[in-house]
Amino acid sequence: MKGDVSPPQRHILQARGADHVETLGLGPLYHAPRRRAVHSGLVRATRTRRPPIDVSAGRGLVFVSHTGQVSPSGFLPLPAGSVRVHPLTEIYRTSPVFTALRDPGLLAGRCGACEFRTVCGGSRSRAFATSGDVLAEEPWCSYVPGSFPHQDDLAGYLGAAPGA
Ligand code: SF4
Repeated sequence: MKGDVSPPQRHILQARGADHVETLGLGPLYHAPRRRAVHSGLVRATRTRRPPIDVSAGRGLVFVSHTGQVSPSGFLPLPAGSVRVHPLTEIYRTSPVFTALRDPGLLAGRCGACEFRTVCGGSRSRAFATSGDVLAEEPWCSYVPGSFPHQDDLAGYLGAAPGA
């Protein structure tokens, strides 16, 4: 998943009185940067958040090049049309590239099987760059779908998320 501890997981564990560091098996790669960030005032030690706003390539984000070519993001060079030919809103709403990116049911591999696919979905740019398939699984994510211990709580929590 993008980031080390997702807000839904942490929220659920806190509500259950469980320690997220112990439950999720977080190690030095979590503690060292976290300590530095808290010490420098970049994050507050007790900060909690709701799930991230559902914005990623093609989902609330669009890139228009200096020649008018439209793609889902500046890191995802999949041409979806040209603003010299069609209105940007039409391309965003109807192009197969954009509509596919907004359908988490089309994701493949671990992302397709993941309970976080509606709020995360992984980096579509990285998937495309490493596999050539924009709907392939996120290659840098280490999360194993279904491994969070309180799936019922998670389903209720994510059920309120947009697109869930
Ligand atoms: S498997 Fe994909 S959808 Fe699930 S957390 Fe990882 S990147 Fe996100």
